[in-house]
Amino acid sequence: MEFDFSNNKFYEYFNKLNINDLINNNNYSDYKLKEFKNIKYFSNLNKGISLCFKNDILDSIFLYNENIDKFHKYKNKLPYSINFDMKNVDIIQLLGDTPKKGGGNYPIFLNYPNLGIEINFIGKDWSDLNNTISFIILFNDNKNEELYCSVCTNKIMKNNNIFKCNNKNCNLVNYCSEKCKNLHIKFHLKLCYY
Ligand SMILES: [Zn+2]
Ligand SMILES: [Zn+2]
Repeated sequence: MEFDFSNNKFYEYFNKLNINDLINNNNYSDYKLKEFKNIKYFSNLNKGISLCFKNDILDSIFLYNENIDKFHKYKNKLPYSINFDMKNVDIIQLLGDTPKKGGGNYPIFLNYPNLGIEINFIGKDWSDLNNTISFIILFNDNKNEELYCSVCTNKIMKNNNIFKCNNKNCNLVNYCSEKCKNLHIKFHLKLCYY
């Protein structure tokens, strides 16, 4: 069996996880395979990671917190200096708000299409300050994806000015106006690692 990892920019985050066994030796002993049609999940319960392949191309990576769906906690570094102790308030301070979020009858999540990350929480309540991260999904960001203001979540039109983080290399937040930036940037800068 051949797998294509090349299209997933988050490859570096699980490079160290004996993944070569999975690719080269057909040695799946650490990984349990679940298959649905053209989708394969390789899960390592001890390492807290699940790799999702569509048509044998790596599509997304699931990283688990302790005791979620029988997984142990994923212990390596998470992208964007996120950690599993963060609550939804902390994630919104770091990455801003997003229109792609969910909840209601389901556990809440925050999805950032331009960053290629979705953060899922255990509970359904946004105001629950102890609502812990359950798992994180990494996927390839879509370069054509529209940008949304990290405060008001309005679409930022192509020809409009984008207000960014003061740290030059930071692409985590985008603001539609000076006003939106001023409301959020001080919180973001406390967590921004650039
Ligand atoms: Zn705005
Ligand atoms: Zn920043």
